[in-house]
Amino acid sequence: MGLLEFDGEPLSWQQLQPYVEHVKSHGIQQFLHNYNRLMKRPGDMLKWGDEVEYMILKFDHKNKKVQLSLRGEELCEILQEKERKKMKNLTSLWRPEYASYMVEGTPGVPYLGYMAQFNVVEGNMRMRRKEVQELLNEDEQIMSLTVFPRLGCVNFTHPAYDITGPESNPVSRSLYFPDQAITSHPRFPSLTRNIRLRRGKKVAINIPIFKDKNTPSPFIEQINDPESAAGAKPDHIYMDCMGFGMGNSCLQLTFQACNIEEAKLLYDHLAPVCPIMLALSAASPLYKGYIADIDARWQVIAGSVDDRTSEELGLEPLKHNKQVIRKSRYDSIDSYLSSNSKIFNDINVEVNQEAKSTLLNAGIDELLAQHIAHLWIRDPLTLFSKKIDLDDENEADHFENIQSTNWQSMRFKPPPPGSSIGWRVEFRVCEAQLTDFENAAFVVFIVLLTRVILTYKLDFLMPLSHVDSNMEKSQKNNAILKEKFYFRKNVNTSRSPACCTQLCSFNGKSNDNNQMTIDTIINGKEDVFPGFIPLIRRYLDSVEVGVEARCSISEYLNLIGKRASGEYMSAAQWIRHFVTNHPEYKQDSVVTDSIAYDLLVRCDQIEKGEVKCHQLFGMPRHKSEYIQANKDPMNGS
Ligand code: ADP
Ligand code: MG
Ligand code: MG
Repeated sequence: MGLLEFDGEPLSWQQLQPYVEHVKSHGIQQFLHNYNRLMKRPGDMLKWGDEVEYMILKFDHKNKKVQLSLRGEELCEILQEKERKKMKNLTSLWRPEYASYMVEGTPGVPYLGYMAQFNVVEGNMRMRRKEVQELLNEDEQIMSLTVFPRLGCVNFTHPAYDITGPESNPVSRSLYFPDQAITSHPRFPSLTRNIRLRRGKKVAINIPIFKDKNTPSPFIEQINDPESAAGAKPDHIYMDCMGFGMGNSCLQLTFQACNIEEAKLLYDHLAPVCPIMLALSAASPLYKGYIADIDARWQVIAGSVDDRTSEELGLEPLKHNKQVIRKSRYDSIDSYLSSNSKIFNDINVEVNQEAKSTLLNAGIDELLAQHIAHLWIRDPLTLFSKKIDLDDENEADHFENIQSTNWQSMRFKPPPPGSSIGWRVEFRVCEAQLTDFENAAFVVFIVLLTRVILTYKLDFLMPLSHVDSNMEKSQKNNAILKEKFYFRKNVNTSRSPACCTQLCSFNGKSNDNNQMTIDTIINGKEDVFPGFIPLIRRYLDSVEVGVEARCSISEYLNLIGKRASGEYMSAAQWIRHFVTNHPEYKQDSVVTDSIAYDLLVRCDQIEKGEVKCHQLFGMPRHKSEYIQANKDPMNGS
């Protein structure tokens, strides 16, 4: 997305209603113009880039309290100065994010397909962090934290805002998350308000609490507002607005394919990889000052933007809405795109029939038409007064309006009109890791995996219902070690009849045979599965890689491999472990201010390399360092 510009006033929800069909039908026309112009675009080269979302924290060392500093927007303005002046060869680009304590940073220009590029990713991330840190006050820190542990607790922001009831926050009506923490660009408050208005009530996110020895049972939160009380479930942590999800950080990757067919192929084969990487990157066990029984944020965000009405949720008979919709706008994909993948599209894909007919009549293939028509079951959530009547041949705002508010695990991105950019896919599930080293490791690992998929024509396809089942498991407490995931055993049989056999065995009783641990999927197991890392190593042996890049890649693969085998802890497990072993923790699932403070100080020390954490990264090289690490009472070995 480019710089957010002023496009006129946002329409209110009421004002937007007469334009819903206008946006949808012109969005389809814009897609078609673009498609017809660009479908035959030949031979783009591999380009790729990462996005890291950061939070700005403010530490009060005297009182052992840490808050989220609402300076993200102001910082972003400064960070964007060079780009606004159209300066070239920038190291980084910056975007505001949903919450005003966040900023998003990407490399200044996308990376290219050379192996040597793998050696600059981490350095670039480091420079980005430094660029922000230099603008901060002494008590502030930039951190790549997925979820702030006390998000939504009293005074969690700086400045703090009093919330006396839903009326304190006219935009979200939240009891916990102040409207002031929503970035002020009208896109963000409009999305928040309109999701609530479309749904007909506040969103209600309920996440199972981790029940410890002294956790009240049933665990019931004190809530003094009837609408919220009605949405909260016993034994769950209750959250009531978009900020609880969109106010979390993630790590995303975009790849440019050489043409539309390759983009479809990457989209399809990376979809089954999503739950695996979500589990491996899981970094968020704490919500609203409590320990949850999940490790990853996905279902929290899905709930935070769920604008389905009671009819669409299947709770009331259909009167005003067209159909029951199984998933939130934010969820895993429902259909593959390549014609060869069709047999694995085994879940019901709700579509906008009118959009689908228009697309089919215009010559779009069945699966792409279905994909777009599936996105088009959602209504536009925002519209700006200067962006209503557009030139469908040369603009794509109505298309982007719906596309960019379908927050799925993978995104298929057509080239923007009038640019030199090609067909791209985005890998969107990973949680942000604490350090640049880890973020770089995940990024490089996934990029290498795409090279392996394309070079060896690997086949990762499996029924999408199994990908969904994997997504569910991937968020559980300690999923890496406790869960088994569906994965295709024979990845070499691309497009052969064995493909069908595979489907039969997926659908038949032998399901268990297709379930593997993350360790097996990542590291491989003889006679069972070759493993992503061995496949990547085989690929690396076949290409020329400089010594330095090889060295970095080898450290990254080591990290991923050991996270998968359980030798190193995931960020989520380490955070959980830190809190439950904290001297002040009362076995009651509560993360107090000072526990959160100690945790975040420790995260910051780890990020800066001031403390070596063998649980996350393995044994320090020197024995003395190892002893030091184990002596620390809060390192809880
Ligand atoms: P989003 O769709 O999430 O807003 P952006 O378009 O801002 O994503 O870009 C996300 C990532 O894509 C960035 O890391 C950027 O470097 C990278 N990127 C930009 N142009 C290209 C391209 N032509 N091919 C591949 N990646 C690109
Ligand atoms: Mg973002
Ligand atoms: Mg993105």
